[in-house]
Amino acid sequence: MGSSGFLNWWPGDTKDEIIIGAILTQNTNWRNVEKAIHNLRDSNLLSLWELSNAKITNIENAIKPSGFYRQKALRLKNIAYIICEKYDGLGNLFRKDTKELRNTLLSMNGIGMETADSIILYAAEKPSFVIDAYTKRIMSRVYGIDKKVSYETLQSFITSNIRSDIVIYKDFHAQFVELGKHFCMKEPSCSNCPVNKICRYYNNGSDGL
Ligand code: SF4
Repeated sequence: MGSSGFLNWWPGDTKDEIIIGAILTQNTNWRNVEKAIHNLRDSNLLSLWELSNAKITNIENAIKPSGFYRQKALRLKNIAYIICEKYDGLGNLFRKDTKELRNTLLSMNGIGMETADSIILYAAEKPSFVIDAYTKRIMSRVYGIDKKVSYETLQSFITSNIRSDIVIYKDFHAQFVELGKHFCMKEPSCSNCPVNKICRYYNNGSDGL
């Protein structure tokens, strides 16, 4: 947990890089994504414009470390093409209001809810709360929320309890990631966990069924 206050977690120097990273990170860890991003940068492919015009084999070769590289290369090229050709760039796409933007992203092949919300929050900088595996695990252990809760139900539960604000949303997401990485792993390390006083799992030995 960030003891010094707000965290603004999402690696990526540009909006293009954030979007590319959000797709590459599906079903893999960030270390592998970093290698793929490094290769894309070396191949001059780290932009939506370049990806939309690139040969698919060049994208595949660059992103191999991220796994599922054939599927991800197709997704990247397709999404980059739609954004560049249909919307003439991110500016027009991101002018949509949050709900419309989310629906548009979800209609693109390979963009699910977590990827869409990550793109909206970190690249478009609009309030759309990101639910990831850490968030689900921690909410289940701390509050006893059903582990099988749907993405949108958990998202509504969290957003109905915090202010709709991109700084707050980014910070909460970052805090979940930090807590999940350093304390609330599969085998949790509860004794030093900063939220153990309010945690149902720690205090009652039960989590979301
Ligand atoms: S007290 Fe343990 S189970 Fe609860 S959030 Fe912390 S690490 Fe996870």
